[in-house]
Amino acid sequence: MSIKLNRWRIEGTLTTISPLHIGSGDTVTRPGQIMDKKEEKDVEIAGVATDCNSKPYLPGATIKGNLRTYLEQTKQEDIKTIEKLFGSLNPQDEDSCGGALEFWNVKVQDKSPTFDSQHIPYWKDDFLTGITASAVIDRQTRTAADKKLFYTEYVPAGITFKVVITGQDLDDSAIAVLLYALNGFNTKKVTLGASEADGWGEFEWELDTVTYIDLKHIEDWIKSPGELVGYNMTGLDRTNELKNIADDIKTSTLDNFLTLEITLTFNSPFLVNDTSRDRDLKDANGRKEFGDHYPLVDTKGKVILPSKSIRGAFRSQAEKILRTLGNGQSACFDHDKADRKACGSVYKAYKVKESCPACQVFGLSGWRSPIKFSDFTFIQNEEKGKIKRQQFVAIDRFTGGGAEGAKFDADYADRPKLSGTMSIDIDRLRTAGAEDWGLGLIALTLRDLMDGDITLGFGASKGYGSCTTEIKYNLDELKNKLNGMRGWHENLIKHLTAQSSRRIS
Ligand SMILES: [Zn+2]
Repeated sequence: MSIKLNRWRIEGTLTTISPLHIGSGDTVTRPGQIMDKKEEKDVEIAGVATDCNSKPYLPGATIKGNLRTYLEQTKQEDIKTIEKLFGSLNPQDEDSCGGALEFWNVKVQDKSPTFDSQHIPYWKDDFLTGITASAVIDRQTRTAADKKLFYTEYVPAGITFKVVITGQDLDDSAIAVLLYALNGFNTKKVTLGASEADGWGEFEWELDTVTYIDLKHIEDWIKSPGELVGYNMTGLDRTNELKNIADDIKTSTLDNFLTLEITLTFNSPFLVNDTSRDRDLKDANGRKEFGDHYPLVDTKGKVILPSKSIRGAFRSQAEKILRTLGNGQSACFDHDKADRKACGSVYKAYKVKESCPACQVFGLSGWRSPIKFSDFTFIQNEEKGKIKRQQFVAIDRFTGGGAEGAKFDADYADRPKLSGTMSIDIDRLRTAGAEDWGLGLIALTLRDLMDGDITLGFGASKGYGSCTTEIKYNLDELKNKLNGMRGWHENLIKHLTAQSSRRIS
């Protein structure tokens, strides 16, 4: 074996293009900013991992693990190189080795030049984070479950992190595999942190420099030592030579995603409530700046339907279909007095098949959903989508009159048009044991969406959130990817019958 002593240093940047939450496992508070008014104390917020400067960071081990998983899924034929770069899978093996790469913890660098914090709920410049509040939606009643509001700290889109990876005794082809893996960030195949199925944790990767030192460089340096040390001494900048080396590497596994472009045209007021607005703020004319309900907006200030909201509404409708076609056993409930108790977490992929049909298709703890929604964002339209205000009077259910002091108002977007995508990971559906009947369930739920049976956002009972739907897809692609379309519906019924008998017996 020849000794090829060399050292590499790869530097680049990762910039968030969607919200990022790598949890610290701890809760934080924002004293005075987010209070539980009833209990008069600060609300507990799920915090992001922070470094010694109290700034968010990307743990090196997380990046390493996710890059490795991506390579194992797409470059099986390079498994020897993957083990050389990241370490042997089984350290007990005779020829096992530690990984040749060192992933440094990644520090935050800066805000991107176009970054604008104006519309980020509870933005804190010192921490570079915002806070999102989500209501736990009761899946049966479709209402926000009482008191189940939870808060999550996140790094918004437009924050840049400085990545440093070093390694030793690697040849150019191994570096090419590493650069290929890093390029996976740009195709959103590699993500970091929580809520991946909601489009969180996506980045733009940019390679800055590839520096290289070998024995010859060290000898040269010993002969004529200069002031510089480390990579700056006589290290060779190989950035230009190697920056495109990964471009010719193709993934060996074909993607099996089915992506639908969905346009929602609201024919009613629409809003998803942003709880972070200061309701007491008045403008120059003494008018309230924000209504008691105010729509969540994106970084451009345009109304938005977050992926989490459409996922919740879509799942809830799918569960209704399951219980109609099957029975109370066909989808678990999230309370204990139900026909079928909430499915427990799964730790092994094959265990997913034992959960209820809804959890197989829409995910549960330990199993990311095969269905991914993007945020649905505003399509430019001069006439529509303007923010307007409506007054409400809460009616006292006992007297039938207006309840005292129970007036409230809502700022809503007037009939906006929003668009986004839903992609279905067919391989993952197959792993869940749901390839055929799962597609049947998704098709029936999409039909209900197109029929206007699913309302989105706040105030379904007040006539808010109703829309018509247009779905764009490539028919040839659809036929190619989905053979056996005809059998879906029958398979769904068959599956539900089998599930029920298994559960009852
Ligand atoms: Zn379940």
